[in-house]
Order: sequence, then C-alpha cells, then structure tokens
Amino acid sequence: MITKTKIWLSSPHMGGTEQQYIQEAFDTNWVAPLGPNVDAFEDSISNYYQNNLTAAVLSSGTAAIHLALKILGVGTGDDVLCQSFTFSASANPITYLGANPVFVDSEKETWNMSPELLEHAILDMMTKGKKPKAIVSVHLYGMPYKTIDVAEISKKYGIPVVEDSAEALGSSVNGVKCGEFGDIAILSFNGNKIITTSGGGALLTKDNEIKKKAIFLATQARDNTPHYEHSSIGHNYRMSNILAGIGRGQMEVLNDRVEARRANYSFYKEHLGNIEGISFLEEPEGYYCNRWLTCILTPSYDIREKIRLALQAEDIESRPLWKPMHEQPIFKNCTSYTDGTSSDLFDRGLCLPSGSNLNKGDLLRITSLILKTLTDV
Ligand SMILES: *Cc1c(COP(=O)(O)O)cnc(C)c1O
Repeated sequence: MITKTKIWLSSPHMGGTEQQYIQEAFDTNWVAPLGPNVDAFEDSISNYYQNNLTAAVLSSGTAAIHLALKILGVGTGDDVLCQSFTFSASANPITYLGANPVFVDSEKETWNMSPELLEHAILDMMTKGKKPKAIVSVHLYGMPYKTIDVAEISKKYGIPVVEDSAEALGSSVNGVKCGEFGDIAILSFNGNKIITTSGGGALLTKDNEIKKKAIFLATQARDNTPHYEHSSIGHNYRMSNILAGIGRGQMEVLNDRVEARRANYSFYKEHLGNIEGISFLEEPEGYYCNRWLTCILTPSYDIREKIRLALQAEDIESRPLWKPMHEQPIFKNCTSYTDGTSSDLFDRGLCLPSGSNLNKGDLLRITSLILKTLTDV
C-alpha cells in the first residue's frame, strides 16, 4: 500500500549551514544565552535591514512584544490598542503588564488594523479621559498593514506603535521592509515562521539605547556592579547561543524562503483563482508580501469546513484564519471597536499549506483535492 506523507501547514526548512554554527558553539563551549552566534545573528539581521536598525535576539516574539511595551512605558491600568485579527501573542503581553487590551477591527484590503476604526477608537477613548498608551499593529500572514495611515495617526496623537512583524520578515512597502515602520518592531523565529530558530524572536529598533535596555531587561536587569544588584524587575528572555546558530544559517536562505512561499501563492492562485467564490488576499500597489501563509476566502463557513475536512481526511493540514481576539473567551470583557470584518474573515477563510519545502506534487495533491471538493458542493 502506498501511504501518502502528511503535508504540514508550515514546517521548518533548514538551509544547510545551521549545524556548522551549532558545532562551533559546542567546540568553543559557548553553550549559554550569549556568545559569538548571538552577536553574529544580530549583525546579520541589522545588515539585512540597514538604515541603522539594530536587533536584540530573544527567547520568543512574545517576549519581544512584552519588552517593547515595557520600554514604551506601558504599565498597570493603561489601555493599549491592539489589532483584533491576530494571534493571541500580540495581545497577551499587554496583560502581563497589568494593562488593558482594547481591540480594533480590520479593513478589507490588507486584513489588518483599520486606520478609520483606530482613529475612532483613539478619539472615543480620549473623550472618556483615557488616552491609549500604545498601538500594537500586525502584518498578518506577511501582508503589510496600512503603514502610512497608521504612522500618521500615531504621530497625530503621539501614541507609539509596536509593529508586530512576527509573520512578515521579508515583506515590504515601497521598498521599506516590515520591521522598519514601528517605534519598536518585533520578529518571531518560532518553528512555523518564515525562518526559524526552533523558538525565538527579536526586538528591532533604530535607537541603540532601546536595544541596550531590551538586553538589560532580558538578562534579569542586573545593575553595573561586581555583585548582583537589582533596581528593577528583569526577565530571562535572551536567546541561546545554540539557537542563534540556527538563526545565522537561516538568514543565509531567507530570500530563497520568501521566493518559495511566493511561488506557492502563485501556484494556488493559478489553479484556484478562476473558481467562482474563491478569492485571495491581493497585494495593494507597492506592497510586497512574503506570503508566509496563502489564505483563501470561500463563500461560506460550510464550504470552508468542507474543504478543511476533505484535506484533513487526506492528512493535509490547513487551518481557519485567526479567530479575532474580541471573540476570544479570555478577552470577552475588553473594550473593542469592530465592524464585523474580522469575524467574517474568520468564518469563511482558510490557510493552505504554505511551507517553503513543499514540492509541485504536494501542491497538485492539495489543489486537485480542493477542486474535487468544490465540484461536489
Ligand atoms: C508567532 C507570532 C507571535 C509570537 O511569536 P513567538 O515567537 O511564537 O512568541 C506574535 N504575533 C504574531 C502575529 C505571530 O504570528
């Protein structure tokens, strides 16, 4: 019997040199959350961005958001505006600081934070005497948010932006790379992201003092004394020198990974793009999306589920789009500014297998099955 292999939604894809950097760490006994791989990984990220952007590599993207908010002064009782249509890791760190997430719905073009609702939320909160302390905006699925509009609103009201670029390394708007838009930005190197260190993240900033502060807070906030002296609360968030070795190898193949994911998108578009009722998330003019995950919109929840279950029966992993945070049980008491956009996307949308290691046979297996399922509808 021929058994077909499982197709994952987005699985790790090593480049080849990762183990060499890990071996170096062992050979020199830099088996610690500091060392040459950590420094070199940070340098390779800074070189990728140029424009004086520097990186502090951390244990996760979630840790990076936590530190970004903390450095921006978010504390107990503050309100932080957060894109509702996202993964929970965008919002959770707001609560770690004793602050309240306030959710903002998406616009239909990029599926990210609606600038209109964002401004409406700020004005409404200000009339209630509660000016938000920060904005967490997300480039979901690698599609950049409305960077110009969000930056304008941020400037107009003097509210800093944490740019959640966890899914968007390799994306850009008019040549400006995702990670350069916020006051502080973050990346994730979790196992399912465009490149991975198995687990990890980075905080990106143009301000070297912010980078220093992030590393200080990420290494237990130790004051500059021979003994261990602490005048603030720290965290254990630094990246391991072993994992940074994986990161160094992955940065060497980042461009290939983006090309492969974009090729997946093109394949899906070519094979499913002419089917009535199926639509794709398109790039607005000047936008370049890393196509971390290819997502389709179907006519209804039922059709979405029919496709998802048919794929599952053939051992092919697909996933509904992110369930909006304002609909999550844990956040049900939070204030939100919504217009139904993200709820509708959640109902009808599906993420298709999108790994950079998929081959043509895999993609054909997926698209034929979807076509067959849809003709049965
Ligand atoms: C993955 C992800 C994060 C968190 O990154 P981790 O490294 O898994 O902690 C944050 N925001 C978004 C949108 C993500 O997809």
